[in-house]
Amino acid sequence: MDSRRPGDIPMTTIHIVGAGVAGIAAAVSLSDSGRKVVLHEAAGQAGGRCRSLHDPVLDRTIDNGNHLLLGGNHAAFGLLDRIGARDRLIAAAEPAEFPFLDLATGERWTLRPNAGPLPWWMLVPSRRVPGTRFRDYLALLKLLRAAPGATVGDRLDTTSTLYKRLWEPLAVAALNIDPKLGSARLMGAVVAETFMRGGAACQPFIARRGLSDTFIDPALAWLGKRGFELRTRARLRRLEVRDGRVAALEFAGDTVELAQGDAVVLALPPAGTAELLPGLTVPEAHTAILNAHYRLDRPATLPGGQIFLGLIGGTAEWLFARDDVISVTVSAADRLMDQSAGDLAALLWRDVAGACGLSEAMPPARIIKEKRATFRQTPADSEQRPGARTGFPNLSLAGDWTATGLPATIEGAIRSGNNAASLLLRYSSVERPGQPDIRASHRSPMDISQRA
Ligand SMILES: Cc1cc2nc3c(=O)[nH]c(=O)nc-3n(C[C@H](O)[C@H](O)[C@H](O)COP(=O)(O)OP(=O)(O)OC[C@H]3O[C@@H](n4cnc5c(N)ncnc54)[C@H](O)[C@@H]3O)c2cc1C
Repeated sequence: MDSRRPGDIPMTTIHIVGAGVAGIAAAVSLSDSGRKVVLHEAAGQAGGRCRSLHDPVLDRTIDNGNHLLLGGNHAAFGLLDRIGARDRLIAAAEPAEFPFLDLATGERWTLRPNAGPLPWWMLVPSRRVPGTRFRDYLALLKLLRAAPGATVGDRLDTTSTLYKRLWEPLAVAALNIDPKLGSARLMGAVVAETFMRGGAACQPFIARRGLSDTFIDPALAWLGKRGFELRTRARLRRLEVRDGRVAALEFAGDTVELAQGDAVVLALPPAGTAELLPGLTVPEAHTAILNAHYRLDRPATLPGGQIFLGLIGGTAEWLFARDDVISVTVSAADRLMDQSAGDLAALLWRDVAGACGLSEAMPPARIIKEKRATFRQTPADSEQRPGARTGFPNLSLAGDWTATGLPATIEGAIRSGNNAASLLLRYSSVERPGQPDIRASHRSPMDISQRA
């Protein structure tokens, strides 16, 4: 039943297309705006590249990829606080620590940033990487002042011990590309928001029970209580434009007409966005991430006792232990994409067994190849990232590949969703003056409407 009185202004609708983290963040951001929010997703489930699945071989719920967040990811924590799910993200080390093992030599070390905001840990040899000096760490400042065209390799000494033992593993994980090719600006943004802010900001966090349990399910449940609608298996095929604004959304099976004041957030991957908006420049190339999951016959433990471990000197780069599953991440893994799952499982098991001192035969394993894990984060590709604003007043863009100033991460995706939402609120408040104007409360901490 329509409860509106004559003269009431009908509620406008904001359609969000793409239910990855960016689209979900936009939906949460808009949830108390007085607009109806509808989230359209092509797949059968929400989450996009940040999701869990039940694997029949392991008979366990695993993530499409191990995701590490850092204490300085304030938008991610802001989202979790809002949906009441902060306790589902747990510290992987308490206080902040980064344990490493060199598979070639067996040497182990742990980087221990101090707790306060001033990073004095770099002065203390026992907190640093062995074989490094304080002045090696000052090279970080070069990342903070990097020109847009510079690579990490241009700014850091790639032959140094510190590079091999710390910056290379961290940068390949953050940028998903060989850091010699990766954008120094993007790596500098990570360093500025984490390592330069002390231990709390670089404390590593992981999903307690899985990515869907931490980010997706609680967000959908929270949104569900606020009258939001999720339409799965709804692939957007075309945007219909009339009078300079988006007037209809054509999905595989139906067309949704937009009323005046209605607006759209496209929170899709770059290629799909470019198909819908011909002429839009987007980063076209991608790099892959490979994950392997092994189910042991006992609780999984890693050397050093933490639930994650950085590896150098092998193919596996990071190990994670959850219950009886050990998971492996290899970033910038394009070179491995053509190998069979069986070969990759055997290859990576050798590193796991070597790191953990296991002599048993390889247990049940599952390989997940994400060929388009992130856009290729070189300086040149980063220049192709568009802002949230489009040529249409009722359409904004979100996604980890838009110009957030950050690498393609959960943090960047959430900030992009928040920003796209606040842009549209400005639009629909102007178009429908009777709608509540909550612009001030939705102003994003950063304006990403310009190119990175
Ligand atoms: C293996 C792996 C490991 C990672 N590790 C980390 C990590 O450690 N830390 C970190 O912070 N980040 C990590 N990331 C990156 C992080 O997952 C992404 O940055 C984030 O999930 C991107 O979210 P998004 O919403 O921008 O995009 P997506 O998740 O790609 O969402 C886009 C959505 O749009 C849907 N869609 C596509 N086309 C259409 C259409 N035409 N109509 C309707 N819907 C459509 C898709 O199905 C998808 O659900 C990792 C990513 C991968 C793949």
